[in-house]
Amino acid sequence: MQSRNLPAGLQKDLSASLRVTVKEKKVERTFAKPWKKPMPSPDDDIAPMYEGLKKHEFRLCHCKKCGAWYWPATDCMKHDSEPYLGNMEWAKASGKGKVFTFNVHYRAFHPGFVDELPYVYAMIELDEGPMITSNIIGCDPKEVKVGMPVEVVFQDINDQFTLPMFRPAQ
Ligand SMILES: [Zn+2]
Repeated sequence: MQSRNLPAGLQKDLSASLRVTVKEKKVERTFAKPWKKPMPSPDDDIAPMYEGLKKHEFRLCHCKKCGAWYWPATDCMKHDSEPYLGNMEWAKASGKGKVFTFNVHYRAFHPGFVDELPYVYAMIELDEGPMITSNIIGCDPKEVKVGMPVEVVFQDINDQFTLPMFRPAQ
């Protein structure tokens, strides 16, 4: 692709940046330290999301009929549905959103959180629409603002589970 407004050297770079290369992503899961916080206990309805997280893929519940996104799993509310979850699938989502609201915890309500004080617990409005709660990591809690763009980062906690955390969008 050529852009008339750019010098010749930059046109080449722009062309390269627009090329899309799809490669099979190999996920390396690393466990930085023993997990001291409560473990997830997913039921069958949400298990596919956790399977995706282990592959470092952020999945949301997606309506095959109209394209609407949901989290957690539910029937689509925009039309009549098949038997429970019949229209729905777990599909890869962007993992991007913005901080809808948050609070900063200065006190641990479980001993597993002591080392992380202060930490940010936030409600994130995902680009696809659903809200999800998680932690904002990778920045000073004082830098977190309502409306701040964030993106998912995968925290491997053991060989069974990976959790979706969010950091400032890069
Ligand atoms: Zn639908």
